[in-house]
Amino acid sequence: FKARWWSLNKVKSVCSYCGTGCQLTLGVKDDKVLTTVYDENQGFHNGQLCTRGRFGYQFVNSEKRLATPLIRRNGKLEPASWGEALTAVAEGLKSAEASGSDAVAGLITPRLTNEELYLVRKLYKDVLGSDNLDHSAGYAHSALSAGAFESLGFAASPSTVTDIQKSDLILVVKTDAYETHPVLGFEINLGVKRNGVDLRIISDKKGKLSRLPKAKTYVYKPGNEVFLVNALAKAIVDNNLIDAAASGIAGLEDFKKSLESYTPLQAAEVCGIPAEEIVALATDYAKADKALIILPLGLGYPGHDKTLAQALINLALVAGKIGKEGSGVLIMGEKNNSQGAVDMGIYPAGKGKGASAIIDACSAGTIKALYVIGENPVVSYPNRKKITDALDKVGFLVVQDLFLTETAEKANVVLPACSFAEKQGTFTSVGRIVQHVQKAIKPVGQSRSDFDILNGLSGLLGGATFSDPGKVFAEIAREVNGYAGLSYEKLGQEGALIPVTTRPKFVPAPARQSIAEAGKYALVTGSALYHCGTMSRFGEGPMHVCPEGYAELSREDAAALKIEENDLVKVASAGAEIQLKAKISMRMPKGVVFAPYHFNEQSINTITDGNPVTWVAIRK
Ligand code: SF4
Repeated sequence: FKARWWSLNKVKSVCSYCGTGCQLTLGVKDDKVLTTVYDENQGFHNGQLCTRGRFGYQFVNSEKRLATPLIRRNGKLEPASWGEALTAVAEGLKSAEASGSDAVAGLITPRLTNEELYLVRKLYKDVLGSDNLDHSAGYAHSALSAGAFESLGFAASPSTVTDIQKSDLILVVKTDAYETHPVLGFEINLGVKRNGVDLRIISDKKGKLSRLPKAKTYVYKPGNEVFLVNALAKAIVDNNLIDAAASGIAGLEDFKKSLESYTPLQAAEVCGIPAEEIVALATDYAKADKALIILPLGLGYPGHDKTLAQALINLALVAGKIGKEGSGVLIMGEKNNSQGAVDMGIYPAGKGKGASAIIDACSAGTIKALYVIGENPVVSYPNRKKITDALDKVGFLVVQDLFLTETAEKANVVLPACSFAEKQGTFTSVGRIVQHVQKAIKPVGQSRSDFDILNGLSGLLGGATFSDPGKVFAEIAREVNGYAGLSYEKLGQEGALIPVTTRPKFVPAPARQSIAEAGKYALVTGSALYHCGTMSRFGEGPMHVCPEGYAELSREDAAALKIEENDLVKVASAGAEIQLKAKISMRMPKGVVFAPYHFNEQSINTITDGNPVTWVAIRK
């Protein structure tokens, strides 16, 4: 911290890391962000910030920020003017489009503002005629949103963050909110300690939430969460705990039939949790007056299709837990504007391809131009070899980012973009709260906001242009479901909650079983402070706390393999192997190994295969 607080300009804004949507105040001097602080009167979270929000801002003024646009000439990326770069991008996209609109695709980060995401959608839909638009959440969150859409008629959580404190029982599924969305973890903590909320956790490993008083954690064999959730619903049906209102919801009888093979006894065998514990958990959940399910999932938890969201919504519907305060299902996207990306149409719609299919089509040569904004597929998407091969094959690759990422190094054109501190617009949190982001500093170097870049490109391609983000927001308020009537003035500092209108129905959710491979360990990946690392790896604060990747395993497995803390271990899947430092912990169950997915060096995605579980061998 390099200046006294009173000498700084204070600009209220919204954290750009996770989907919780915490408000914060940036301390600014000489066009540099020197600190972020909390204000206890700010936001639903009473000003609380986690390590990322409080200390993760250094990436904004990092010396590694891209200084100019770059164009590849004779195999090398060389500085270029904005005019040259935008013309090259417009020509590259147009030339690919000549092979058909399906030959163009975009992977767009949900870190952009709603206004920028709306511009992307408009560019692809109205100008390029392509539906091939997705983001990293295509590997998890947008599939879950699609599941919510089929079950509820609304691609968002039917609950919001203030439901946490009003609940009687919270069921957290699969991951630890303390790690993925820490301030929501604090809210759960407050609910438990202050309001006596009962906490139940079903996960493939224990986490920090498991340490809270009276928390009960049920650890299942990795990859079998849908089976377990179906078994909970089956126990509710078989024990006559169905809510009276469920009989009025379409699809109940078919749903009940679909549960026949998910008895608690079968689930005990598949998931590794005793049948009586499954029945007890189902009974506690069904009997709680207000019960909230929380599902914090992101890119580090790949391979989930819509069935997990549908299974959880079925469970909530059969127990009568949707449509009242303190109850429901809260699906938490990983990034700051994951919900906004879904709302603005940045996920596969109609005949469009999702993130995984886009990568396949790049490999097959049917996608000839790929525009990547703020994503770093080489490091953060599963199955690194497949991703790098696909990017090497695509004819024209544009990357728009703050840094020369591992993906940008492969691009034909690189466009330097601005951070959240350099732009104006809105983000929509996982709790469906739309909040105003304020510009605090001028663009760093020659970087431009994604709004300015997309606007310029749209103009070159003959599409619509806007004079400022406010004009785009006015169109969003006319065109996007739930945003009707909103304006920057109405949002004010508090933001506004998007209303939910659900048309629920039961949609059977068949479970894939994950079966252990003899002599192998179940590798699960996830967040350790960073998210995908596109911003946090460029900040001293987060890198100080967690500087490198690791393989975390149980004490029993470590003893059997004669591995000690910090030993270098080899982790191998079919065809690939990496070396990581060992971390030994009490939270890991026997037979399961965890690794964070954010790091480029010894990237765990070198050996993952895109499924929720990759089976690996481990040796010293
Ligand atoms: Fe930022 Fe998420 Fe932390 Fe809140 S919980 S401060 S939004 S990273």
